[in-house]
Amino acid sequence: MTAVSRRNWAGNITWHAERFAAPESVAELQALVAGAERVKAVGSGHSFSDIADTAGLLVSTAALPRDVERLGPHRVRVAAGVRYGELALELDRYGLASANLASLPHISVAGTVATGTHGSGVGNRSLATHVAALDLVTSTGELVTLRRGEDDFAGAVVGLGALGVVTAVELDVVPAFEVAVSVHEWLPFDVLLEHYEAVLAAAYSVSVFLDWSRPLRGQVWLKHRVDDGAPGVVDEPWFAAAEAGPRNPVPGISAENAVQQGGVPGPSFQRLPHFRLEMVPSNGEELQSEYFVAAADGPAALAALAPLADLIHPVLQVCELRRIAADDLWLSPSGGRDSAAFHFTWVPDLAAVLPVLERIEAALAPFDARPHWGKVFPMTADRLVEVYPRVPEFLSLAGRLDPRGAFANAWTGRHLGR
Ligand SMILES: Cc1cc2nc3c(=O)[nH]c(=O)nc-3n(C[C@H](O)[C@H](O)[C@H](O)COP(=O)(O)OP(=O)(O)OC[C@H]3O[C@@H](n4cnc5c(N)ncnc54)[C@H](O)[C@@H]3O)c2cc1C
Repeated sequence: MTAVSRRNWAGNITWHAERFAAPESVAELQALVAGAERVKAVGSGHSFSDIADTAGLLVSTAALPRDVERLGPHRVRVAAGVRYGELALELDRYGLASANLASLPHISVAGTVATGTHGSGVGNRSLATHVAALDLVTSTGELVTLRRGEDDFAGAVVGLGALGVVTAVELDVVPAFEVAVSVHEWLPFDVLLEHYEAVLAAAYSVSVFLDWSRPLRGQVWLKHRVDDGAPGVVDEPWFAAAEAGPRNPVPGISAENAVQQGGVPGPSFQRLPHFRLEMVPSNGEELQSEYFVAAADGPAALAALAPLADLIHPVLQVCELRRIAADDLWLSPSGGRDSAAFHFTWVPDLAAVLPVLERIEAALAPFDARPHWGKVFPMTADRLVEVYPRVPEFLSLAGRLDPRGAFANAWTGRHLGR
């Protein structure tokens, strides 16, 4: 029998659930959900808040049959609890790949999709946009399938676990491709501000890391697609950042756990995450937050954070800048607008981090910054409904799919008013 962890990966949340279950069939899951007053699904537990918590029954989908089935040339059906790293290995056997990946390959497919998790790239949308259909067990225990193009689909994909338990998704995939990673340092902050979009568009996937120490400067990770004919270098006079030796995204940590760099081509799934699948990236001693603004506001929003550098730096492990293409999913952080994202990996001290987050939210308020659902943020329902304007439609969908409020929890109360 699969044991369900009593806490999240970071260890900052211990679940309040009265009961835990890891059903081995969808039928067993349906009966459990129908019989529970309060219930919630947990994926791989890589979120940093009580978003996956419940006062009732916490169900893991990890013990459901972990199938990856090929449905067509570029379509697969994947069980909810499969992790992206496992999926990548299966896809590779078919000569296929996910068009993009998040920084960590260990996260579950359903949890990733439910929170609008993303990688980077001006042409890359959130991983949730790869979903073509999803199977959902609703609070009556009924199994419903929602397909792209149908009413409710765009509302249900980034579902925050608030609509039901996803048992499987159909995903769009692409032919396998190779990527080469090169790391460059240092790009002065004023150069970054002036050429923000050019830097973030300089490769298929780009991340810029800063630790907000002075002098402010960025470390640029360029992830080039080997097959797209791009030169693989930034040939601009302002890009003086020299290629560095192997680096971990977190300053001072060994590069051993990080993906291969130095421009050596390799399968996309071994290059697009920052961390190697076969390694544990860290022991979870961190908290994370992330905010999304319109891409056009990226440089101004970054400049608005600069006066906070001396507040941010002491509680920060590393900050990462990324770009994500717009999508049409109601609660996607990049919904309706090409987005610039500002990610923060913090020291594991919520009391020290929260006041800094309040200042960051205030500095980014003029840009209607949206928090990442799976990370730590103080923003409450009254403001969230302004930055995520489709929250009312989502709440109405939740009311229809879960009229008895079985999937509501303290987190949905604070952040959605449900
Ligand atoms: C080291 C690290 C690196 C990360 N890198 C990135 C990154 O590059 N980009 C990014 O955007 N995010 C990143 N994240 C955040 C992470 O992707 C999200 O927190 C994501 O939700 C994790 O998936 P999970 O399976 O662990 O979800 P969980 O934390 O288990 O759950 C998150 C939400 O999904 C719901 N859920 C899970 N399974 C199901 C299901 N079967 N049916 C319905 N709802 C379900 C839960 O109820 C909950 O609401 C990172 C996190 C860590 C720890």
